[in-house]
Amino acid sequence: MKAQTLSSAAALALALACAPAALPPAPEIPQPNPPVVLPPFRMDSTATPDRVPPFQETPLIVWGPPPEGTTHAERKRRYDLQHQVTNVRFDWSRQAVVGTTTLTIAGLPDAAPISTVMIDAGDMTFKQVSTESKELKYDYDGRALTVHLASPLRAGQKTSITIEYDGANRTKGAYFRPARHIVWTQGETEDNHFWVPTYDFPNDKTTWEFYIWTAKDERALSNGRLAGSRAVGDSIEWHWVLEKPASTYLMTTVVGKYTVLQDKPWRNVPVGYWTYPDSVDAGWRGFAKTPQAIDVFSRKTGVPYPWSKYDQIVIPEFQYGGMENVTATSQNDAEILHPAATEPQANSVPLMAHELGHQWYGDLLTTRDWGDVWLNEGFATFMEQVFHEEDLGVDEASYDRLGAQEQTIDADRRARRPIVWNKWVNDPIEVFFSGHIYPKGATILQMLRHQLGDAAFWKAMNHYTTAHAYGNVVTDDLRKAFEESTGKDFKTFFDQWVYGAGFPVFQVSSLYDRAARRLVISAREVQARDSLTGFFDVDVDVEARTDSGVVRFVVPVRNGTGEAGANLKAPPRSIRWDKGNWILDLTDFPRSTRMLQYQLVNDDDVLGRIEAAGVLAQRPGDQMALNALILATRNDRFWAVRSRAADAIGAWGSDSSRAAASPMRTVTNALVAATRDPDARVRQSAATGLGRLPLAGPAARDVVIRLRELARTDPNLIVRGVALASDIRLEKNAAIPLAKQLMTTDVWQSVIRGPAVNALKDVGTPEAMQLVQQYAPANQ
Ligand SMILES: [Zn+2]
Repeated sequence: MKAQTLSSAAALALALACAPAALPPAPEIPQPNPPVVLPPFRMDSTATPDRVPPFQETPLIVWGPPPEGTTHAERKRRYDLQHQVTNVRFDWSRQAVVGTTTLTIAGLPDAAPISTVMIDAGDMTFKQVSTESKELKYDYDGRALTVHLASPLRAGQKTSITIEYDGANRTKGAYFRPARHIVWTQGETEDNHFWVPTYDFPNDKTTWEFYIWTAKDERALSNGRLAGSRAVGDSIEWHWVLEKPASTYLMTTVVGKYTVLQDKPWRNVPVGYWTYPDSVDAGWRGFAKTPQAIDVFSRKTGVPYPWSKYDQIVIPEFQYGGMENVTATSQNDAEILHPAATEPQANSVPLMAHELGHQWYGDLLTTRDWGDVWLNEGFATFMEQVFHEEDLGVDEASYDRLGAQEQTIDADRRARRPIVWNKWVNDPIEVFFSGHIYPKGATILQMLRHQLGDAAFWKAMNHYTTAHAYGNVVTDDLRKAFEESTGKDFKTFFDQWVYGAGFPVFQVSSLYDRAARRLVISAREVQARDSLTGFFDVDVDVEARTDSGVVRFVVPVRNGTGEAGANLKAPPRSIRWDKGNWILDLTDFPRSTRMLQYQLVNDDDVLGRIEAAGVLAQRPGDQMALNALILATRNDRFWAVRSRAADAIGAWGSDSSRAAASPMRTVTNALVAATRDPDARVRQSAATGLGRLPLAGPAARDVVIRLRELARTDPNLIVRGVALASDIRLEKNAAIPLAKQLMTTDVWQSVIRGPAVNALKDVGTPEAMQLVQQYAPANQ
């Protein structure tokens, strides 16, 4: 499963049509005035290029309190569900699910005979419960059906139970979406039993079949292989068969008018994309890289795609981004079917790769209970990163890893907890989106990969994957598989990173002895420690760049401290702690502005350049820092360095305490120049930053001209939206005629209206609020 990545304003507008619209003609452009000369920049007297600042006084992180909830143990199985056959139709007149399902169950080995069988069934009524046509007695409490067997079921013995049911008053499970006349289901975590009675907990695996009834002009998608379809009166019956076992939360049915795009098969595995008849081009574009990703994952894991086919289907008004229903993934239509003019910010590849990754991790190997669900989600997020690296290269992959680390750090700031966590208040879904199991899970796997090297890491992954194929897993199965495969001990690693919470916070210092030409790096861990978070024993890669070459060495940190050194031929021009950012940490490593400027220009690792930009951004009043950031917006070869540098310049310029000491003209010119960047993401940062500057009157004129031009003509719709918003922030009421023009026609996900509405709210004048009333998402 994956959360939606669209902004909340966009999510509110989900029901809107997705077609990009032509924009109205351009208004007249005012002619620019001569540039305004601003007072010269005043240098902060404490800022000198070679000064090394002290450690920060405030802690880099204060752990958030653990999330609330009580412990939920794994459900104890009392029988083995071996096969299930369901015949189902969706009754639009009552929005009801009407079905008959037969469960084949067996007594568990070595278990005492059972005389009752509990089957999950939510908000249903029953016409009959029977075995081989003989009626059975049952009790029902609205959530579970307790069936009284005719005779006790002994270990290994099989029986079948047939349930004729009707579900008209569901709160979840199956969803009728009238706008497109589509019905879809959503099981994870324990919701499938609201549309089909079953054993609804992940720790049992079964095969299943669905017979699904649709109207003549509709199709039905489900798991496994399409075994047949036949016309019956004015209906069609579709028969789908899942021949390999899976957990029942992965059962799915989608019914509606769909066009099926059949891509070239991967080896002999059919690959299909189910899209709306009016969205064929967008469907091809959104799913295009699927066969390539199947190939990458099969090759990396050494386990070829393990199911009979792979279909993905877009569904309307979905509460998540995607759901990895085995062989039949549901994808949020808004995430997949974006217009080309919103790329690369809108991008369906991560979602496609994530849900595909689940076909191995989640579907082939499935967490035994929700407390270990990082084995599904952390792995799928990791696979998403793996595909990104194969597809777009190391810089993009590094930037992905940084993003995951930043999300994890934010998560611990809000609510620190270990990855393995089985406490929640109302619903197991609460453990999913805290920021731990997805990004931290992926980060842990990346650390293992770096520690072992690719060959040994993937060999261990292959061992884990083949040892537990079509089975259930807990976290310790992963540790054991890695130990068996590598011969190494991973107890400390798992205790620190997986069963323990938090991460190390380092204070790092460097000492270069010019006479001895020796560099020594010392580190100590300063994170708040308690029963959940201790010290982290890690080996940290250090790199010093000099005029006579690059020197790398490792600082082993044990029990909270570490120190190591290396001989250099020339003084260090820059020093990296944790080269490559493989370790999840926060680090306070004071270095001079000159060193950071050198790092921003010369580090071959994109994350080193981003780190330097981030630290320089915190040095207000230091002209060398500002100049270094400006040069990075112009010269860096990777878009995210340019984009982050532009963000930093914008933030700097907007901070009133710093703005007084900043050369505003320099800031403004740098951001205007960055609005001409070839990458839309950099233009977006620059346009956003310009709207935050305290500019008025003549000083704002050139900026306004450029923002208006971007809002009307940028090839990227998202850039147009933020440029319009920035123009509104600067011009206030004077921007309203342009806003009225550009907001008239809605475009995909309200990427123009949404930011404009927010800016108009901030302006707050009666004229602005009138437009807000007209276009706020709630009124659409
Ligand atoms: Zn997922």
